[in-house]
Amino acid sequence: MTATEKKIFDDILQSLEGRDKVFLVGCGDCATVLQTGGEFEVEEMRQALTEAGKTVTGAIVPEASCKILDVKKLLRQNKEAVEAADVLLVLACGAGVQAVAEASEKLTLPALDTTGQVDQFRLGQFYEWCSSCGECLVGEFGGICPLTRCPKGQVHGPCGGANEGKCEDNSENECVWTLIYERLEKLGGVSESLETELRAPRDYRKSTHPRQRVFEPRRGG
Ligand code: SF4
Ligand code: SF4
Repeated sequence: MTATEKKIFDDILQSLEGRDKVFLVGCGDCATVLQTGGEFEVEEMRQALTEAGKTVTGAIVPEASCKILDVKKLLRQNKEAVEAADVLLVLACGAGVQAVAEASEKLTLPALDTTGQVDQFRLGQFYEWCSSCGECLVGEFGGICPLTRCPKGQVHGPCGGANEGKCEDNSENECVWTLIYERLEKLGGVSESLETELRAPRDYRKSTHPRQRVFEPRRGG
């Protein structure tokens, strides 16, 4: 799931300077779950913009704003309100904002900041456990990713700053290397290679952008 945070409202107003009529686009998927761009937040934005003297000509919340065809369809269904607007303000991740920009000729602005990929591991608790490096190494670390879950991305062991097993960067988090060692002990012990061998440099070609995956979907799938 793509994580988003609300931009500061004054910054949004600044980006709208000179443009009084706004059409809002939310997102029924990730931004709804994360309470940054669902129906509730779109209504909140409508009220805030109205109080700030703007006119909201209309609003939609597509099933997922990154699905261009759905966005196009909804924009067509709301053609008058869209045409009346000076700008489309999108409460979705960066991919959603770009899908809306692709689907419309109007100036399109983001109302959210995109902060990575998170997954919900418990109700209401979302964590970034994978940063899509393109070459998964967690098999060597007991199924735990030091690249993502250590703020320094330490792959050769702990930095030495942990305090009582907690990360020096954020004492609410376990040091990921504590977790890795505990896990490996349970799995039969820490391998000598993990303790002694330097890793070869990563193949960063695997993490260059933009990534894409284009294929012919299976019939019926
Ligand atoms: S090593 Fe970490 S960042 Fe890379 S794919 Fe695996 S979990 Fe994701
Ligand atoms: S304390 Fe552990 S998790 Fe925190 S920065 Fe150091 S090695 Fe990484």
